[in-house]
Amino acid sequence: MNKRVGLYVNARRFICRDCGKTFMETLPEVDSKRRMTERRARWIGPHSLLHTFTSVAEEIGITEGTVRNIAHDCCKRLDKSQFAGIQCALQSEFALAGAL
Ligand SMILES: [Zn+2]
Repeated sequence: MNKRVGLYVNARRFICRDCGKTFMETLPEVDSKRRMTERRARWIGPHSLLHTFTSVAEEIGITEGTVRNIAHDCCKRLDKSQFAGIQCALQSEFALAGAL
């Protein structure tokens, strides 16, 4: 059975004395842009090409938009000729999501 696990991490926030901008400490194995582990982001990519974005989002408890984002990044890395069918399916799901 798949079990959903959450991680609570204390990351330090720094402030630049020159310009006053704040920034978060970077953590190893953490995708800071998406606030999840890189391992999870790597899992979502191929998974989102085989299942609907909504079902993947529900399965792991994130928004459908985040899944779509990761799927899009994953898609860009694929070889277009080899994965033409998958690309088409993905694009039609984008179109569908845009229509809702
Ligand atoms: Zn600064």
